[in-house]
Amino acid sequence: MVRTVEVPEYEEHGEVILDPEKTALVVIDMQNDFVKKGGTLVGPDTEATVPVMQGLLEEARSSGMRVVFSQDTHVAGDPEWEIWPAHCEEGSWGWEIVPELAPRKSETVIRKVRYDAFYGTHLDHFLRLWNVETLVLCGTVANVCVHYTAASAALRWYEVVIPRDAVSALSEFDLEASLRQTHFLFAGRITTAGGIRPEPRL
Ligand code: ZN
Repeated sequence: MVRTVEVPEYEEHGEVILDPEKTALVVIDMQNDFVKKGGTLVGPDTEATVPVMQGLLEEARSSGMRVVFSQDTHVAGDPEWEIWPAHCEEGSWGWEIVPELAPRKSETVIRKVRYDAFYGTHLDHFLRLWNVETLVLCGTVANVCVHYTAASAALRWYEVVIPRDAVSALSEFDLEASLRQTHFLFAGRITTAGGIRPEPRL
């Protein structure tokens, strides 16, 4: 049965002004298995978001924002592979972050075992040490790992900002449902990568 539903209106901010000292850019799961031809779980639009994220990284690095990467990490027999095809096996090509978005030595890479980058990781610990209050989330999959990380961040009262052109999903429905929930349920702000404006330092 096919049902058609309308996406309720949700606000998209033309610009979001951010204090770089209190903001972290979090790049979720931009790994070969999700992005590159030959990967096991490639989204149709994911590779097209890479240049958008390169722009966000450049802006975050030049403004002095913290940059964090999450890296989905599984071992053989992981129960998540009963839901999804096998993906991101630790040490494999598919597990590696795509070279265009390679983390710098000074940047934090969080290996995560489930959708939520907070679950079972040190992410919250580092964000609090750095006095981060706002997370700009980008990457994939929008309604899975980006969404559950946004949810987990919002439950901890971090402000969530999602540039919609820097996330991707397996279908348009999944993307819209996730962004609408982020706005409606987490009071997150939806914008575009071009709308992210780090406040100039005085
Ligand atoms: Zn996974």
